[in-house]
Amino acid sequence: MRLLVTGGAGYIGSVVTAQLVEEGHEVTVLDDLSTGHADAVPAGARFVRGTIGETGTLLGESFTGFDAVLHFAAKSLVGESVERPGLYWSNNLGGTLALLDAMRRAGVGRIVFSSTAATYGEPERTPISETDPTRPTNPYGASKLAVDTALSAFAGLYGLAAVSLRYFNVAGAYGDLRERHTVETHLIPNVLKVALGERESVSLFGTDYPTPDGTCVRDYIHVADLARAHLLALDATAAGAHQIFNLGNGTGFSVKEVIDVCREVTGHEIPVTVGPRRPGDPAVLVASSEKIQRELGWKPVHPALRDIVADAWAAAIGKGSVSA
Ligand code: UDP
Repeated sequence: MRLLVTGGAGYIGSVVTAQLVEEGHEVTVLDDLSTGHADAVPAGARFVRGTIGETGTLLGESFTGFDAVLHFAAKSLVGESVERPGLYWSNNLGGTLALLDAMRRAGVGRIVFSSTAATYGEPERTPISETDPTRPTNPYGASKLAVDTALSAFAGLYGLAAVSLRYFNVAGAYGDLRERHTVETHLIPNVLKVALGERESVSLFGTDYPTPDGTCVRDYIHVADLARAHLLALDATAAGAHQIFNLGNGTGFSVKEVIDVCREVTGHEIPVTVGPRRPGDPAVLVASSEKIQRELGWKPVHPALRDIVADAWAAAIGKGSVSA
């Protein structure tokens, strides 16, 4: 297929692009490099620099030749979204509406969208399933949820074929493609920075949560497993339908457990500095991925946290992950 991957120079978008190229698809990456890296665009993919709002003008007539779009380009920092909500609404919702409009004009009728567990907010129960209430607690989650609403509307109005994948905590690496954010907020890369000698200690945000060891529990999924789900989703898109699937492993690990696994994998003692809770962090976020397993036949190949961390570590020290 001829595919457009927006945000294909970012962490998840680049891994999906690599897998699509491996499967023989013809891939164009559109990325403005605001947070992505040009050298992360896999060899074999064409690269166009620009924003999603410019898709129609940048690709022009040739956009009509695309079979589908995989849409990753977005602002994705919860804290930043609270400080600069306008940026999140204009980029994530406004940009996506411009992209959907360009798709409609060009007759490109299929999209796989990168959504998030942040659309659910503070859950009433775990594991979270797709029918649970969506009450985002920050502008990032709200902007992603608004896109999900738009996709449902476009499916009903124009026959768009859409799938949203709601990611839980994505980690690990694929070959040398890894998480490389200028401002790193995620737990595993921050812990590994300590092992690399780039930071003296890792901050532990809160030890007074109602969980077995008092630290937050999250569901970590390997980026290679997450990426594979996009290829299944692409095949599952159906005209006039907007399907939503959660993507996680269904098992929760506390922040302390994650740090312990990082200690085992790296052999580094990893000093910890205990600090206050980070605003907006729910105590427990664990996915039910039963729906995508049942309906699309997705199954994680690397569900073990140790393997996820080992791949992130191998890529961080330049050895390339084993799962690629
Ligand atoms: N966390 C932490 N120290 C860090 C980064 C994160 O204690 O340097 C905690 C954070 O409070 C949350 C968990 O680790 O409970 C996972 O955070 P992350 O930002 O990786 O993912 P999120 O669940 O927020 O998407």
